[in-house]
Amino acid sequence: MKTIGLIGGMSWESTIPYYSIINEYVKEHLGGLHSAKIVLYSIEFAELEKHMSAGEWDEAAAMLSDAARKLEGAGAELILICTNTLHKVYAQIQAAISVPIIHIAEATAEALEKAGVKKVALLGTKYTMTGDFYRSRLNARGFEVLIPKDSDVELVNHIIFKELCVGEIKDESRREYARVIAELKEQGAEAVIFGCTEIGLLITQEDSVLPVFDTTVIHARKAAELALA
Ligand code: GLU
Repeated sequence: MKTIGLIGGMSWESTIPYYSIINEYVKEHLGGLHSAKIVLYSIEFAELEKHMSAGEWDEAAAMLSDAARKLEGAGAELILICTNTLHKVYAQIQAAISVPIIHIAEATAEALEKAGVKKVALLGTKYTMTGDFYRSRLNARGFEVLIPKDSDVELVNHIIFKELCVGEIKDESRREYARVIAELKEQGAEAVIFGCTEIGLLITQEDSVLPVFDTTVIHARKAAELALA
């Protein structure tokens, strides 16, 4: 079994599910007392977020590259960046180490391909929804990507940073996310990507009129699959 390295803490609320999903996968496949080999480096999110909101992406990349090197030094054989947004600096982090970093959008694209989806809605931070780094990966694999209207981009982003990342789960916000998903369905989306690792803490398949592709679940299970391969 390979050792998985997690760059977590972005936010820590969403790193907890990674730990359980990976171990559940190993339990499903190996049973008994088997569990995953995991090394976690948990980032101080306030320090990182300061760089993100100031547009200091090289500094953000340096913080995560340092974490990746430490994980490699601790024996990690494959690494996950446990957030969609910081995949903006994926190439810089990957260049700092010699073990593979499993890209969250590529793992998600693979799941969408298996399901035969072509036109997909994307929810995430404003960086992920409006930037090119994430959507271009999906476009390159033939997906058409729909994002919410401007005011809802702000709302979805606000709920992530002001509520979900600090552990606040509100019914009102769940209803707003459900409404945004319904509007994207009206525009022709066949499925929705929870392209932020906290969204699954707020809303589940039950509340969504579109089939859900939760990046936290997809990413964590992909790592477990590779660790056991
Ligand atoms: N965890 C979130 C994501 O998947 C947002 C917080 C962050 O910017 O890391 O994008």
